[in-house]
Amino acid sequence: MIDLKPCPFCGSAILKIYKTRTASRGTGAHSVYIKCQKCHARGPKVAIGIGDDPEKELTAAAGAWNNRI
Ligand SMILES: [Zn+2]
Repeated sequence: MIDLKPCPFCGSAILKIYKTRTASRGTGAHSVYIKCQKCHARGPKVAIGIGDDPEKELTAAAGAWNNRI
């Protein structure tokens, strides 16, 4: 598992990864981000390319979240 830092706003460790689709229809490209389940603070969105595996998505989103703090 990836270590996620607690939310910088409320200190909660209840964090979830979300996926969004980008404007590029049909390519499978999308973005991922971490969102606090308590205060709904969001981490930076990270663009994910086609064919990247889920573990890479999690690592990218977690890195963006941890580096923001
Ligand atoms: Zn929070």
